[in-house]
Amino acid sequence: MENALERIFVADYEVDYSDVIGKKIECPEGCGLCCLCQPEVLPDERLFFRENYPRDLVKSRGSNPYYALALKKGHGSCVFLDNCTRKCKVYDNRTTYCKQYPFHIYVSDRVKVELDLSCRGVWYGTGNDALTEAKGIVEKADKRIVKALVEAKDVYRQFYANCKESGIMADQSTIRMSLSENLTNFTDLAYLSKVMDLSELEPVMTLDGLQKESKVEMADLEDAAREAAMDSMATNDPLCAPVYCDENWNWNVFMASGDKIDWTVLDDEGNINLKNSAHVSGIPLKPLEEGGEKVLADYIATLNHRDSFMGSVFSLIDSNEYEDNMANAYYGCMSTTILDLMWRASMLDHFMGTGMGSKGMQEAIIFYDMDRLDAQAIGAFV
Ligand code: SF4
Ligand code: SF4
Repeated sequence: MENALERIFVADYEVDYSDVIGKKIECPEGCGLCCLCQPEVLPDERLFFRENYPRDLVKSRGSNPYYALALKKGHGSCVFLDNCTRKCKVYDNRTTYCKQYPFHIYVSDRVKVELDLSCRGVWYGTGNDALTEAKGIVEKADKRIVKALVEAKDVYRQFYANCKESGIMADQSTIRMSLSENLTNFTDLAYLSKVMDLSELEPVMTLDGLQKESKVEMADLEDAAREAAMDSMATNDPLCAPVYCDENWNWNVFMASGDKIDWTVLDDEGNINLKNSAHVSGIPLKPLEEGGEKVLADYIATLNHRDSFMGSVFSLIDSNEYEDNMANAYYGCMSTTILDLMWRASMLDHFMGTGMGSKGMQEAIIFYDMDRLDAQAIGAFV
């Protein structure tokens, strides 16, 4: 639940910092994960690159191209990341989004700062105070926030009107509260199975009094988990594939084709080297081990608190033409997300022996969270 004391007012809009309060951030040498993301170069930052590195200011690929910095070999890290030290060669002139990472400012009908858990620097519990850093970032982003807020408020207003008209509206705080009362249930495969069934069968579902299935159809759950995970890995373009930065700062990239998944490692020059392959159907969905449940429940609590997660559910509702009740869509999306994460943890364990305990789940979250935050949402990150 939001704590009113955690809210801080800047200019004429409210910013929710509750996700960063009490956290610390450090950026250890040798990581460079965020330099694989090809951040946008904002208009007032382009002059420096045009004048000094004209060939390295490019249009990104994809359906919504933007000005960005070139990548090594078109799919590796940013050209300005030093191959030997992994330090930025234009540090004082790096882009706004380089400076903002691992913070994300999500603008819906309000403003919330979220933390990217794919950054290892947020897991150590040492370094700079996250709240102080986040406030500085919000202050610098003020103009962009104000502009995005005007647009996002309109989008949300229209979205709520469509929900009411379709009779699928539900109270967001009740949905979130109910999920937070059932956090550990959501780490249980039998419970997830039941939630997924009800989200499809019931016109308006509730978690009140929901019992776990006594018998779980593991084959169905595994199919659902694989399908969710394969959605992002089914590509042969390393730029589009999910990246997992491991403890030794290797950039592991997973790409699937048909039933085969390749574990590759991207090097500092932009080369892709195959490490191993496996048949997707040969990677079972593994049960949680000691400590895994707690790490997973904490992550579910984080997702449940994120406006961007709610915004991604709203985006799904919109693309499904307002057929699903908001609560059904929310609980169904959370279940699919957890299954996706658990299958990725199983896959990391299969290839690297990370396990399904607290360490294994932490590594899976580091692998997964960047993709989660990248999901289509009706609000905007600024
Ligand atoms: S991902 Fe985090 S730890 Fe890694 S370079 Fe970026 S800010 Fe630093
Ligand atoms: S400009 Fe620097 S900090 Fe930004 S992505 Fe490139 S190397 Fe990384």
